[in-house]
Amino acid sequence: MATVRVRFAPSPTGPLHIGGLRTALFNYLYAKKHNGDFILRIEDTDQNRYVEGAEAYIIEALNWCNIPYDEGPGKEANVGPYKQSERKALYAKYTQQLLNEGKAYYAFDTPDELTKYRSDYEAEGKTFIYNWHNRLTLNNSLALTEAEVKEKLATNTPYVIRFKSPENELLAMHDEIRGNIQVQTKTLDDKVLFKSDGMPTYHLANIVDDHLMGITHVIRGEEWLPSLALHLLLYRAFNWEAPKFAHLPLILKPTGKGKLSKRDGDKMGFPVFPLLWEDPKTKEIAAGYREDGYLPQAVINMLAFLGWNEGEGSEKEIYSLEELVQAFSLDHVSK
Ligand code: GLU
Repeated sequence: MATVRVRFAPSPTGPLHIGGLRTALFNYLYAKKHNGDFILRIEDTDQNRYVEGAEAYIIEALNWCNIPYDEGPGKEANVGPYKQSERKALYAKYTQQLLNEGKAYYAFDTPDELTKYRSDYEAEGKTFIYNWHNRLTLNNSLALTEAEVKEKLATNTPYVIRFKSPENELLAMHDEIRGNIQVQTKTLDDKVLFKSDGMPTYHLANIVDDHLMGITHVIRGEEWLPSLALHLLLYRAFNWEAPKFAHLPLILKPTGKGKLSKRDGDKMGFPVFPLLWEDPKTKEIAAGYREDGYLPQAVINMLAFLGWNEGEGSEKEIYSLEELVQAFSLDHVSK
């Protein structure tokens, strides 16, 4: 395996937006700059958000941009399959390991109960954080004995499996772009790792896969920065070495206020990447860069400069993909 391995891990929930495409590009550039591998992994564990055709769309979009992946759907598998829905047994196995080691637990709260905890806390002017510590102080029978848990499982009571986060720890983290960050674990919810539908959540599947696929650098959008603490805690719970993390700045609206969304695309000349299939709601095939006649190289150039530049004094504006590979460095990604 190459010494640098990165991945683009989109969820097939719709067309690829420019934010996602930029993440793919930066991963590709980083991999190739370091003679590394670039992996495409389809994160399709959220059945409610799954959109038929989105995976084909993502692959076609990467092909059109000439961003080839070394491993992924349709390629010979080194550590595949690269679709999470085909890796379910793995996630179940690792969740079981955490349960056995007391690092995760069954939670049987119903949606109504969860709402009640929250409102009880709010009534006292407090925010409810679902963690082990709060559970024990809640005014009900949440702290179940092992026998009670067994009985609930035996009677098929719906459950989720939650991660038991440390009660009171100042967790030191490092991001390649942001630098050093600290999080107090008291402020973290005990996140769900396994859902009642028998599917893992993004968090569990994502870190199991990054570990098993030998990912050395996780380069992804800043919207995942709040999950970094949980991910690092999961690596620690498994005794796995964590990869390095780099969270890319959000792409803001042209006004500089707020995150760019699909709606801005329609309004402000930032079309999303071309939809290759009919929008189920509008029954339209949406326009996009390709349909509008842009050349892939122009799109790549535009994406590269969304949050990156070659450094002070550089006036070069047009780069080939090969030149971008040579010039790229995470040091010049803006915060
Ligand atoms: N599936 C996540 C997404 O679509 C991946 C986030 C990550 O790269 O960890 O944004």
